[in-house]
Amino acid sequence: MNTDLATSPDVRRTLPSVDQVLNWPIICELAEHHGRNLTQKIVSDELNRLRIDSQPCAPDQFVEHVQQQLLQLLAPSLRKVFNLTGTVLHTNLGRAPLPEEAIEAMCDIARSASNLEFDLDKGKRGDRDSHVEAWLCRLTGAEAATVVNNNAAAVLLTLNTLAKGKEVLVSRGELVEIGGAFRVPDIMRRAQAKLLEVGTTNRTHLRDYVEAISARTGLLMTIHASNYSIQGFTASVPEPQIAQAAHAQGLPYAIDLGSGSLIDMRQWGLPYEPTPMDSIAHGADLITFSGDKLLGGPQAGLIVGKRALIDKLKKNPLKRALRCDKLTLAALEAVLKLYARPEKLAERLPSLRWLSRPQKDIRQQVDGMLAVFQAWSGDAAQVLAVDVMGQIGSGSLPVERLPSCAIALQPTAGKRSANKQLQRLQSALMQLPVPIIGRLHDGQLLLDLRCLDEERLLVAQLRAQPFA
Ligand SMILES: *Cc1c(COP(=O)(O)O)cnc(C)c1O
Repeated sequence: MNTDLATSPDVRRTLPSVDQVLNWPIICELAEHHGRNLTQKIVSDELNRLRIDSQPCAPDQFVEHVQQQLLQLLAPSLRKVFNLTGTVLHTNLGRAPLPEEAIEAMCDIARSASNLEFDLDKGKRGDRDSHVEAWLCRLTGAEAATVVNNNAAAVLLTLNTLAKGKEVLVSRGELVEIGGAFRVPDIMRRAQAKLLEVGTTNRTHLRDYVEAISARTGLLMTIHASNYSIQGFTASVPEPQIAQAAHAQGLPYAIDLGSGSLIDMRQWGLPYEPTPMDSIAHGADLITFSGDKLLGGPQAGLIVGKRALIDKLKKNPLKRALRCDKLTLAALEAVLKLYARPEKLAERLPSLRWLSRPQKDIRQQVDGMLAVFQAWSGDAAQVLAVDVMGQIGSGSLPVERLPSCAIALQPTAGKRSANKQLQRLQSALMQLPVPIIGRLHDGQLLLDLRCLDEERLLVAQLRAQPFA
């Protein structure tokens, strides 16, 4: 007696049909639970696979396969992970985590109708920017503000509005690529603006700008060197001088700050990052920066500056295409309001809390967890504490690094197989229910604990699924 689905030499003849399998009570139940079309597709794929493999497969095993496939398909693809890379604002890992205030605001707005574009005083159509504009102005000292989907969109909108069909003067040393296909020359072209490089890669002088200005000029622009620095024999023109040169010819001056912080980061022992307030004081007419970099909020592109120019941006049809949604605005409003009490900011904003964590504190956490990781890896790795340098990330403060501490997993295998072992360790950590993401460095897997909040969850899953 044999209940295997495919034991005969000609399996094609003995395999049940899709319809037959769909009538098995347990498969019916799965279909009821997870959807008939999806279940049918998986059953059909599994049967095809058996037909090709000609491997024996008991019905129980078959059902289990189908069930596993269903669960895998329906499990969330976008999941939370432990960011132990040492890069706090990691673009591939979603940049800034949101503070509770922002999460609550988003949930509230997600669940019901809202006054997104409805003026409750006048009872008529309103402006979605109104929920954050006053706060952006209050915090930056700007006359007006608008918000789009991200900073790349902010730059695109600025260029297209102020310099469509005209020339934009940018110092050659600022023509950067900021990861993930944001290249200043490409954005210029897409915005239908014409890039005019001034100066040289390492040195640009005021006269370079002045001599380049013509009847074709639409805008002068500075792009903050986010993810690199030019050192040595260098010269760049101070922003107030560029502003003056622009204004003398009746031209606007824009600054893309990239990260842009709303407060002086030095109070938390971090290096100084230029602020929109600086840029306004320097005479810039429009300033663009990200919502999810140092600001610590949701993905958004913030544009602040002169009222007349912001009004122009808002009238550009591209604004409609680049606008952000109600959830982003809800989160952004909540985050901006946290800046009203800067002294509490490092407690409330997770990104700032992590950025300002002292190395000593991280080292203590590392010491406390060495045994857990040693037990997890068994004799596959030697586990030790090492001092490392982390990064702020997202191109903020590129040269500055954060003194931190990490758990290092060093494969015990001999030289030849050490690399394979290292990859197996890395992949085992990434296969955990909440994946642990570290970084490989010098034959070690480094787990920087700067951004580790949920220590108990991490420990529990390491104990539940040991490597060895
Ligand atoms: C990060 C950055 C951008 C892109 O911002 P996103 O919010 O990622 O779209 C543009 N310019 C500069 C200078 C940046 O640092």
